Amino acid sequence: MPSNVEVFGFENENIRGNVWEKYKAKKGVVDRLGIIFSDPKVLFAGNKVHFKDRFFLCKGGYCCDILGPSKYRIGSVIIKYTTDKLGNIKQPFDYTLFPWMFSEQTYTKLKTLNVDFSVATHDIKIGCTNEDYQHIDITPCQESIWQAKAELRAKILEEAKPIWDYIKRGIASDLSVEEIKDLLGGTPTAGGADPSTKLDLDSVLSQV
Ligand SMILES: [Zn+2]
Repeated sequence: MPSNVEVFGFENENIRGNVWEKYKAKKGVVDRLGIIFSDPKVLFAGNKVHFKDRFFLCKGGYCCDILGPSKYRIGSVIIKYTTDKLGNIKQPFDYTLFPWMFSEQTYTKLKTLNVDFSVATHDIKIGCTNEDYQHIDITPCQESIWQAKAELRAKILEEAKPIWDYIKRGIASDLSVEEIKDLLGGTPTAGGADPSTKLDLDSVLSQV
């Protein structure tokens, strides 16, 4: 057998069929995360989307007439450190990388925090007040652990590459205008333009 062939049972976690479990904050648990990037100007990927059965890219016009204004869905690759429930790093040091998809509200929170604590140089702690709606509180940490050692940083950047590709593909489906018309059935949905209804719906669905 050639030496570069691996043998395994079902424990091989490198085989994921190109599907990645998305990060979800849990109520009563504080997570310590870092946003993974190689270029500090490229922290997120995102696009304006609608949701009807699935996320799809806004093409302007018909989709907005039926569903109301489109909103950004944003993604980034994050490292979730292995911590206790208060977000304190546990020994031995370990971590998992996740795609994190979030709504405009979470982006705004990150942006506010970034003014005083750059998310490029500080990890963040996430507390969750509502799991279903993914209402989260974000606080900065002193340092960015994943970047503390060049060797660890290089390893993590390599591991993050396929997840970054997954995020760029996975923001929303790129439907044609005809496909959007088929999906929306041509009948305006009741309450579709009600911004208060849409806001809550979006924040739930953006985490699906
Ligand atoms: Zn639209």
